[in-house]
Amino acid sequence: MDFTVSEKMQAIVGMMREFVEKELIPLEPEFLGKDFRAMLPVIEGKREMVRQMELWAPNHPKEYGGMGLDLMEHALVSEVLGRSPLGHFVFGCHAPDAGNIEILHKYGTEAQKEIWLKPLVAGKIRSCFSMTEVELPGSNPVMMDTTAVRDGNHYVINGQKWYSTAADGAAFAIVMAVTNPEAPPYLRASMIIVPTDTPGFNHVRNISVMGHSGSDYFSHAEILYQSCRAPVENLLGPEGWGFVIAQERLGPGRIHHCMRWLGICSRVYDLMCKRATERIISPDGNTLATKQIIQSWIAECAAEIQAARLMTLHAAWKIETLGVKEAREEISLIKFYVAGVLQKVIDRALQVHGGLGMTDDTIISFYYRHERAARIYDGADEVHKMSVAKRILREYTGRSVR
Ligand SMILES: Cc1cc2nc3c(=O)[nH]c(=O)nc-3n(C[C@H](O)[C@H](O)[C@H](O)COP(=O)(O)OP(=O)(O)OC[C@H]3O[C@@H](n4cnc5c(N)ncnc54)[C@H](O)[C@@H]3O)c2cc1C
Repeated sequence: MDFTVSEKMQAIVGMMREFVEKELIPLEPEFLGKDFRAMLPVIEGKREMVRQMELWAPNHPKEYGGMGLDLMEHALVSEVLGRSPLGHFVFGCHAPDAGNIEILHKYGTEAQKEIWLKPLVAGKIRSCFSMTEVELPGSNPVMMDTTAVRDGNHYVINGQKWYSTAADGAAFAIVMAVTNPEAPPYLRASMIIVPTDTPGFNHVRNISVMGHSGSDYFSHAEILYQSCRAPVENLLGPEGWGFVIAQERLGPGRIHHCMRWLGICSRVYDLMCKRATERIISPDGNTLATKQIIQSWIAECAAEIQAARLMTLHAAWKIETLGVKEAREEISLIKFYVAGVLQKVIDRALQVHGGLGMTDDTIISFYYRHERAARIYDGADEVHKMSVAKRILREYTGRSVR
């Protein structure tokens, strides 16, 4: 593996970092105090600046107006954009649209690309991904109650989903529903594109998460599908391929998340180090930075962030060179490892800030609340650990080890 960053990428990442520092971080007090929807005019202004700088949609295909960066390149971008909660959205590479764009690009028909993919990449519309159900375990999604029953030229969808992130204000949902109940478990479900203005698409509520219901892009919705009719041409990929496509969606998506988390780590780490050097904690003028326990935290965080970054870049390289299937173990390793590092670094940064860390005067408490979810979505820690351990142990079965 070559870790050299090309001159092109150094320039791109440098411009993005400057933009994040100058244009996005100053918006944070407003972001923390205001409803996201109320901020949209300001945010749209920033998005327009990004388009003018030709830095829009870094990871999306050039033919649709993106920059066409590969996964390794986008990993570097994702880290720098992660330094602000607005980074990915303002640069047009935010989840869940990013994942939906990937699967529409790979599996969409020409008509689907025209109607949904093009405006999505352009940032003219938004989408959501509606798979997790209220009553059944998201960790084992083959247990799915939502059905899509063929009726003439339509699928009729019924089911109750939640955590459909960013459904509030989205133009369409990609819904996972059982279309082939008699098929083997992993071939029972399909993905169907459902415009959110379809009768029977009921946005029940934005769920209150860690004290906030949020709005628009920054929200997670409960959706009730009641006899919701989607034309058969809205089927994404072959019928029964829902889980096959979902796996494709999750591989690169986990790289994007992990690198975004590393951006958060580097931001709060900077804040922690700065605070440690400035906070005087005794009359003789000693700062927190003189205390061994704080030094130890800082050194450990530096090592763990670096380890997490190298593991993630290695997983991205493996996906690029050998494909998602071959990189399954590495993807699981980074998913729980980086989420754990993220939680630890945020927690230590908050602790170093004392009472200030609990306030919304810094971004740390926002990250503390919102990023706890990193250990749950896209596969809970335990599920990834189990699948890695099973694969490792299989290799030891019947093998002689001296
Ligand atoms: C912020 C956020 C955003 C999300 N966005 C979306 C989205 O856009 N679209 C969408 O469809 N879903 C989304 N989700 C849902 C997410 O994918 C699920 O929460 C996740 O898959 C876990 O499913 P669950 O919540 O049903 O937990 P469960 O499956 O009930 O699991 C609960 C806990 O049990 C443990 N556990 C589970 N299985 C095992 C096992 N085999 N062995 C040991 N322990 C186990 C884990 O600790 C797990 O956290 C989001 C969730 C969050 C928190």
